[in-house]
Amino acid sequence: MNYPLELTVIMYHYVRDLRDDAEQGSGIRGLPVRAFEAQLDSLSRQHTFIRWPDLQMAVRENRPLPSSACLLTFDDGICDHYINVYRILRRRKLSGLFFVMDRSEGDGLVPAHKIHFLLAKLGLAGLREAIWEKLSPALRQQFTQAEQRYRLKYPLTSMDSRINLLKAVLQRELSAEVNTLLRDLFEMHVGSEKEIARRYYLSLEQIHEMRAGGMHFGGHSRSHPWFDWIDAETRTAEIKASSAWLEQIEPGPWAFAYPYGGLTEDSPSLLERHGFVAAFTTQAQLRHPKPYFIGRLDGEEMVQNGHAYA
Ligand SMILES: [Zn+2]
Repeated sequence: MNYPLELTVIMYHYVRDLRDDAEQGSGIRGLPVRAFEAQLDSLSRQHTFIRWPDLQMAVRENRPLPSSACLLTFDDGICDHYINVYRILRRRKLSGLFFVMDRSEGDGLVPAHKIHFLLAKLGLAGLREAIWEKLSPALRQQFTQAEQRYRLKYPLTSMDSRINLLKAVLQRELSAEVNTLLRDLFEMHVGSEKEIARRYYLSLEQIHEMRAGGMHFGGHSRSHPWFDWIDAETRTAEIKASSAWLEQIEPGPWAFAYPYGGLTEDSPSLLERHGFVAAFTTQAQLRHPKPYFIGRLDGEEMVQNGHAYA
């Protein structure tokens, strides 16, 4: 394989319609199912879809990829991928690469997903207010300082940017303190976290069925942290958890997707040591300098921006 590798990778999260079996009345929006299908139609006119084993061979054995190759990837192991995506891919005889967290029976939701539910319920201002009320004076100071810093990256110019600002503060600076707080708010405003998590994430049974139907799985850590916000020891533990989980799903070597697209320089060697040959970021690029930093285009953003593929 000659680098840069040329490959179009599309990244998806929620694929659902309001009040369908995936959305379950949560109010969490996603890429509508019909828009997803329309996007597959136009992608198929311009690209040759490949499967994870094609890319695995390309990076391991220098096998060339077809020209205009395109790989479909799906993050977070959410039920949308069984309920809506799998049946569509199977009907079209396509394969997806699904990045799933190592979860145990009875685990709750990772903080990022608790935030999605709470944003849908309380709105941005409501959630910020509810969190602020519970913070100690010291944490309020930390919160304010972090907000000021992230405003450079996420200015208050659009709703999306404002949401990303709050998410960055909660998922980075305050990640340790905020988890209990989010848990309390979730029970108060949404419901039983464990009960909801059980339906929200793919079950092992669904994953095995998807495997049997030609889908592939990759690692996405255990607790979904920003990799540049944790130490090397924790990063190693998160990556190890993914390979241990994947052992029971499909033969390696595997692919990995960095949670939130967070990058560190030591990640490629840690991944290589634990059975991963490729890793995906959230950087929108079509040429990739290294197999451990393969960029992806956000399918939902492409639709919103009226991209040629939409
Ligand atoms: Zn994720």
